[in-house]
Amino acid sequence: MKTLYAVFGDPVEHSLSPVMHNAAFAALGMDCEYHKFRVTKDDLKDAILGAKAMGFGGLNLTIPLKEKALRLVEPDPLAEAVGAVNTIEFRGNGLVGHNTDGIGAVNALKSAGIVIPHSIVLILGAGGAARAVAYQLASNGARITIANRTPERAAKLAANVSSVGRAVGTGLENLHRLVEQSHIIINTTSVGMHPDTDQTLVTGDMLQTAQVIFDLVYSPLQTRLLKEANKAGAITVDGIKMLVLQGVESFRIWTGIDPPVDIMERAVRDVLGKQ
Ligand code: NAP
Repeated sequence: MKTLYAVFGDPVEHSLSPVMHNAAFAALGMDCEYHKFRVTKDDLKDAILGAKAMGFGGLNLTIPLKEKALRLVEPDPLAEAVGAVNTIEFRGNGLVGHNTDGIGAVNALKSAGIVIPHSIVLILGAGGAARAVAYQLASNGARITIANRTPERAAKLAANVSSVGRAVGTGLENLHRLVEQSHIIINTTSVGMHPDTDQTLVTGDMLQTAQVIFDLVYSPLQTRLLKEANKAGAITVDGIKMLVLQGVESFRIWTGIDPPVDIMERAVRDVLGKQ
C-alpha cells in the first residue's frame, strides 16, 4: 500500500513541496505520494493525530502552523531553540518535531562552495526564516549581525542566538557600513517578493565582487537584489536552493534515504519557470 506524506498550512495552495518530494519518490521508484492540505491552527492537533492514525510517513508544516506545533510534538533541541517545527517524524509511538529550514540555508551556501566557520554574516530580517538561519549559521561558527526594520526584534533574536554562537542585533540605519564589513549577506525579509519586485534593501553600488549574496525570496526566481549583485560581480545564491535542501533534509529524516537533489531542484525550477 502507498505511504502518504503531506504538508499542512493555511494557505497552502502555492506550496512546492509536493512537486519536489513526488519527483524524488518517482525517481527512486518508491510507492509513496506527497499531498498538500489546508489545515487551520485550531485543527492542527487533530490533523497531526489523524495522519499518524492513518499511517502517514511524515509531515511538513508551513505558515502559520510551525510555532503552534512546538506544543503538540516533542521538538528536537534545534526546533526547540528556533521555536518552530517544519518537519514531523512519526517515530514509534512518538511525534518528533524537527526544523530543517536552517540546515537547508547552510547547505545552500555550502553547495555554492562557501565556507561558513569564522565568516562575517549580515542577516537582513528577524522573522521566522531569520531565526532558523541565524541559529544554524551561529552553530556553524559564523559571526552574525542581524539587522531588522524593528531593531528590538533583531536584538531579541541576537540575544537568543548568543547561546550557540556570536550574534548582535541592530536596525537598518547603518546598512552601508554593515554590508561593507560582511562576507555573506542574507536577505531573510520579504522585501523584493512578488508583487513588490522592484524593492531591495541592498543595492549593487553597496557590494563588492568577493561578497556572497543569498536571497531567501524565490518568487520571483531572480530578485532585484540578486540581479544587482550579479551585475556587481558578487557570488549569488537563490532561495530555491534552500527550499530544496530543507526538503532534502526532511526526506532523509522520514525515510533514511538520500534523495536525488538535482531531480527535486529541477522539478521546482520547472514549475516556477512556468509561473
Ligand atoms: P516573517 O516571519 O513575516 O518575517 C518578515 C521579515 O521581513 C521581518 O524581519 C520584517 O521586519 C521584514 N520586513 C517585511 N517587510 C519589510 C520592509 N518593507 N522593509 C524592511 N523589512 C521588512 O516572514 P518569514 O517567514 O521569515 O519569511 C520571510 C521571507 O523568506 C519570505 O519571502 C519567504 O517566502 C522567504 N522564505 C524562504 C524560504 C526558502 O526556503 N527559500 C524559507 C522560509 C522563508 P519587521 O520585524 O520589522 O516586521
